[in-house]
Amino acid sequence: MKALINRIIPFSNVDGPGNRCAIFFQGCPLHCAYCHNPETWRICDHCGRCVAGCPAGALTLRAGKVVWEESRCVGCDQCIHVCPHHASCKVSELTPEALLDRVAETFPFIQGITVSGGECMLYADFLTEFFRLVKAAGKTCLIDSNGILDFRQYPELLQLCDGVMLDMKAIDDDFHRQLTGASNRQVLDNLTLLLEAGKLEEVRTVLLPEFSEQNQKTVRGVNERLQGKIRYKLLRYRPFGVCEEGLRFCGRTITPLEEAQRLAQAESDRGFHNCVVI
Ligand code: SF4
Ligand code: SF4
Repeated sequence: MKALINRIIPFSNVDGPGNRCAIFFQGCPLHCAYCHNPETWRICDHCGRCVAGCPAGALTLRAGKVVWEESRCVGCDQCIHVCPHHASCKVSELTPEALLDRVAETFPFIQGITVSGGECMLYADFLTEFFRLVKAAGKTCLIDSNGILDFRQYPELLQLCDGVMLDMKAIDDDFHRQLTGASNRQVLDNLTLLLEAGKLEEVRTVLLPEFSEQNQKTVRGVNERLQGKIRYKLLRYRPFGVCEEGLRFCGRTITPLEEAQRLAQAESDRGFHNCVVI
């Protein structure tokens, strides 16, 4: 059993509570307009277009496959900029045991690990095995997910994980489709399931500068489901790193702080004091 790992951040304090090792998996079924990492969407098809532009000679085409030499890579991301497929050649294909070997040296300094993406639930069976190993080492395991795959299908994984940080991109299904390319029905089912199972660590919504009405609708709808019991992060949209198509949809400005604070205050006035503006 193997998974494609895009990136490992050994120490992060923005991927869940405490100091955590964050692991980003390659591949995502959604294509959100505001995605900051569109290179995690698809799996490299080894077309070879990025090889010639690598200034460090870290990429070679061998037997029809692009091979990335991590030790030569200078991290310029030129390969990502030229890739026409929203893919990355800078991925490692690892077994659960090999991934544990990669991250184990962080364990004396962290509270736990967080798996993210792309969409890490694409690798649910891998995660079940990996979480078993991490839990045996005494660390907590969090899942950061867009909720597009059915958590009900993976009861063992749900039991092993300590919590899920769930994206709720829009409560209006039509708008969710415009924003991500998919319906939000499964996300809402997962929200209910995780809430009832006591596995919802937090919910996050990105507030868009040009969609005030949708922002308000989503925040109100989500909080009515959460009843203020779970931390709800309102993330201000930032255009940095968003692709041209995404910028056309979401705009080129940062969501004003006042708008996010006004939404949080309105929720607080309704008795829901769980909103945090980021
Ligand atoms: S980031 Fe990509 S283009 Fe830049 S050195 Fe590394 S492999 Fe080469
Ligand atoms: S990363 Fe993109 S450009 Fe490079 S070989 Fe893979 S699919 Fe082609």
